[in-house]
Amino acid sequence: MSANVTGKTATNPVPLLDVGRGNRPLREEFLDAMAAVIDSGRFLHGPEVKQLEDSVAALSGARHAIGCASGSDALLLALMALDIRCGDEVIVPSFTFFATASAVWRLGAKPVFVDIDPETYNLDPLAVSRAITPATKAIIPVHLFGQSADMDPLLAMARHTGVAVIEDAAQAIGASYKGQGVGSLGAIGCFSFYPTKNLGGFGDGGLLTTNDDRLAERLRLFAAHGMNPRYYHQVVGINSRLDTIQAAILNVKLRHLEAWTAAREANAARYFQLFSRAGLSDQLGLPSAAVPGRHVWNQFTVRVPGGQRDAVRTQLAQRGIGSEIYYPVPLHLQQCFAPLGGQMGDLPHTERAAAEVLSLPIYPELTVDEQHRVVEALTDVLQVRRKAAA
Ligand SMILES: *Cc1c(COP(=O)(O)O)cnc(C)c1O
Repeated sequence: MSANVTGKTATNPVPLLDVGRGNRPLREEFLDAMAAVIDSGRFLHGPEVKQLEDSVAALSGARHAIGCASGSDALLLALMALDIRCGDEVIVPSFTFFATASAVWRLGAKPVFVDIDPETYNLDPLAVSRAITPATKAIIPVHLFGQSADMDPLLAMARHTGVAVIEDAAQAIGASYKGQGVGSLGAIGCFSFYPTKNLGGFGDGGLLTTNDDRLAERLRLFAAHGMNPRYYHQVVGINSRLDTIQAAILNVKLRHLEAWTAAREANAARYFQLFSRAGLSDQLGLPSAAVPGRHVWNQFTVRVPGGQRDAVRTQLAQRGIGSEIYYPVPLHLQQCFAPLGGQMGDLPHTERAAAEVLSLPIYPELTVDEQHRVVEALTDVLQVRRKAAA
């Protein structure tokens, strides 16, 4: 980096994510939307919530959408509505965010961790088929990094065994599988509006989708203390609502989601081009878009093999390039799940991914110049390390 006349460095850092860039141009629209909620006083159950539910239902191709307080709550509510309880087994990937498995554990059921396809980082259907037992009640495929899991074999297995499929679509709003929107493929779909997701709110928020009228009713029931009618409790539910003010903000943002997703796709295509031109395609494991459907690129995740990942990340940070590790510790090796007896060596593809993955900036507002700098920095770091090793 060279200093310019103002004393600032000539090249600014490239953060992993900068939510401000997407939000700043919409500031007036957000203020108007929030003012409407303030004036209406309908801070819960306002019409903005219904509007968002209808929009996301249409986007995913599901009949029903139900807002809730977070993606984590969506997973918990899905399991509650399906009557998952103590003694039941639920098949989940170990290479995912914690909430996919904690929801199972909180109900006293057993998360059964299964390995991933190393190409897509999503559940390996063959491994799932081996893990199904008479106690299995559900499978939770995660559409990790914005790409759908390979749903056909999972749905076929689920049909044959009478097991429910819950899609964890927290990272994949707008993604599809063979032309069908994620969230409409399994019994229930779970979405998150956490600020780093492709459709992120100004805080927590979540949503459930389903094609099943009865499940839709049960999800609404469980999200509202199991109460219907008022002060008559049919089941022990939880309190989980999407605030009207969050829905109002998300309605503004949803109008831009398609353009943002297209920008993410363009950024991903440019990374492929730049990495190949830099001759790095062989040294870095580039993401695979092998699954038929639309990948919405919540993350652009490469592999840095040979035990170099952490050092590479540090050296990228020294050059001002942000990156993150999603996820460094597989769930079957987490301390809290030690009672399940998971051991290093149980899930080799998961363990290897946890040691090698590195996610790079891919947000819609990332500039071409910034992408060049990311690729140049990574090329430089890898070259320096190769020379040092030689
Ligand atoms: C973000 C995320 C969740 C949890 O969503 P929250 O809204 O943060 O509770 C669940 N699963 C996956 C795969 C996620 O990425």
